[in-house]
Amino acid sequence: MDIRYFDNAATTKINDEILEEMLPFLKSEFGNPSSMYTLGRNAKRAIEDARKKVAKLINCKPEEIYFTGSGSESDNTAIKGIAHKNYMRGRHIITSKIEHPAVLHTCQTLEKQGFVVTYLDVDKDGFIDLNQLMQSIRHDTILITIMFANNEIGTIQPIEEIAKISKMYNIIFHTDAVQACGNIHIDVKSMGIDMLSLSGHKFHAPKGIGALYVKEGIEFTKFIDGGHQEKDKRASTENVAGIVGLGKASQLAKKNLNNHMEYLSNLRDYYISKVEEKIPGAKLNGTRQKRLPGNANFSFENIDGQSLLLNLDAKGICASSGSACSTGSLKPSHVLKAIGLNDELANGALRASFGEENTKEDIDYFIENLQEIINRLRSINSQGLQ
Ligand SMILES: *Cc1c(COP(=O)(O)O)cnc(C)c1O
Repeated sequence: MDIRYFDNAATTKINDEILEEMLPFLKSEFGNPSSMYTLGRNAKRAIEDARKKVAKLINCKPEEIYFTGSGSESDNTAIKGIAHKNYMRGRHIITSKIEHPAVLHTCQTLEKQGFVVTYLDVDKDGFIDLNQLMQSIRHDTILITIMFANNEIGTIQPIEEIAKISKMYNIIFHTDAVQACGNIHIDVKSMGIDMLSLSGHKFHAPKGIGALYVKEGIEFTKFIDGGHQEKDKRASTENVAGIVGLGKASQLAKKNLNNHMEYLSNLRDYYISKVEEKIPGAKLNGTRQKRLPGNANFSFENIDGQSLLLNLDAKGICASSGSACSTGSLKPSHVLKAIGLNDELANGALRASFGEENTKEDIDYFIENLQEIINRLRSINSQGLQ
């Protein structure tokens, strides 16, 4: 059976062109970038070349890019790094209720260390309220960290406005752009972003490589102690092949961005209109306008998301539910709860996230099966109630 993959927000397939670029650094070009001889210098040069490509994608200077081990590590480095550097100046941080766990749990850890965190509400579409943001600012606020685009419902926050407010109060603004990067236009300079996290595996580079942009002049505490790599900000021998892959992914993303956005948003809109046409009791989660090109998230009345996923899997369809399975118990998604869904609708959510490998025919296959499975699950449900 063919696999139809609609879970590009969870991870993406490594692109062949990217893999080809990486392979020499897993084979013959295995030198340590800190070594003085040619083999080492080749690796070093490849890293610096990749740094330029990542910088170009978000419009910053290469010196403002630090390679990390993942998107999660970038978030941890940014948030803990700023908190620990500035704790004598202030201990208040502002974030939102719909952040990725890499941000939420990092903030919770800081709370245990004596920091105070404000978690902003979001409206039914998943947007923060800029007035609430302004009212939350205190004399001791040192960091605002708000995600660029949400991984579950695709909502794109008003990043430039948040940056303006941060600047007005002289507070550092970090954004988790892991879902946005490679999928929508990002320009840290014109948007006024101070720090930004991104991750390779969300846009066709391998897993286990990320980057953190830090605007020149912003100081942060080192996250991993050890050697002096990454301008003494992140110890450990560089993941050269991963870095090269991230560089190539950034170059390709930059080159294809407009086509990519158009292709994905057409698929998304086709899927949304078909679901709304064919499946009664389907409710789109998130906004219709400012949402990621490849994201569609629906809740289905009287449907359990986990059963839906298992039935789709039996048809070769990979998608995701709104629930995060934690320690064996199914908790409804904190994002869907924050936009006001009750437990039942939050548990009946299905996220489809599209990629360039998907076609309209794939979506027709998806919808056909979705319709059939939902009808079957609902009829079993209603029999169970009698
Ligand atoms: C995937 C994701 C992360 C974590 O990135 P990893 O590289 O998997 O650690 C962080 N934030 C968001 C919004 C994500 O989607």
